[in-house]
Amino acid sequence: MHIFDPFELTGLKPNHLGFGGLDRAAPAREQENLLEEILRHPGTLIVPIWRNLNLFSETGGKDSRPIPAFISADQSSTLIDIAENFVYLGKRNVSGNTIAYLAIDISVLDEEQSAIQLAAWGQFADLRNISPLIDGVDGSILAYARAMLYWHSRNGFCGVCGAQTKASKCGHQRDCTNKECASPHFPRTDSAVIVLIHDQDRVLLGRQHFWPEGMYSLLAGYVEPGETIEHAVAREVFEESGIIVKNIKYQHSQPWPFPASLMLGFTAEASTKIINHNGDEIEDVQWFTKDELLNFGTQEKSLPRELSVSRRLINDWLSSGR
Ligand SMILES: [Zn+2]
Repeated sequence: MHIFDPFELTGLKPNHLGFGGLDRAAPAREQENLLEEILRHPGTLIVPIWRNLNLFSETGGKDSRPIPAFISADQSSTLIDIAENFVYLGKRNVSGNTIAYLAIDISVLDEEQSAIQLAAWGQFADLRNISPLIDGVDGSILAYARAMLYWHSRNGFCGVCGAQTKASKCGHQRDCTNKECASPHFPRTDSAVIVLIHDQDRVLLGRQHFWPEGMYSLLAGYVEPGETIEHAVAREVFEESGIIVKNIKYQHSQPWPFPASLMLGFTAEASTKIINHNGDEIEDVQWFTKDELLNFGTQEKSLPRELSVSRRLINDWLSSGR
């Protein structure tokens, strides 16, 4: 089966953590007993999550990349026996073999037990801290697993009637166990917009007070219910800077499941130039020219980390010749 690859669609490289090469195989989630089949299959790889952390055989360092620990199902029977939730993530073809990936939540283990039982494979660490170093394909599978099991851990009870919920659809749905209610519940993603606003040879950057000293980035904010993403861009920019924008154009996105965000990257053109920022949320907003950005380091200023949507939008603008 052909696996959808955003690289083929857009000609652009997916953002970091944006594509794990998996066929998510959504129709297969309807099959009864599929989870049991996957658990018995020798080609299945288990992706363990413990209290929102992922398992790594190497956590990486200055000269080495982190290596995630995926455990074969036949070596995971003890973990599978105590796991609280299972999510079939999908499958991919590796050297002619179809590999299924199954995320399991083993948070029931206490800290000492988790260290002892997983010692042969590695140690748990926070993907949010490790993500800039990790291979993007592996990292996106880990991020997907973490996001799904976070959702399970926060949705054990029905938001309609308060009864317990039970997982279904290979871990992609939870159903209320109260027969009178029987509401289905689905994983949610919180959409956030981030925008590069340009005005000829300069861009608008802001900073929040809790960021590292001197760091500036693009303006951003969450989409509100009942709002289009383009409206969210215009509203957030106006609220934070007083600038009115036009020609709002979507560019690319990045999942940021820490715990459940999707970053949607835009560019927009400034219709007005005078900054009038709201000091409550944003500490400072300024226009910076291309030359100023290229010399940020000498002014004790910095840009957001590499591999983020914001940095990619800035780098693309810097190299666009505007
Ligand atoms: Zn209910």
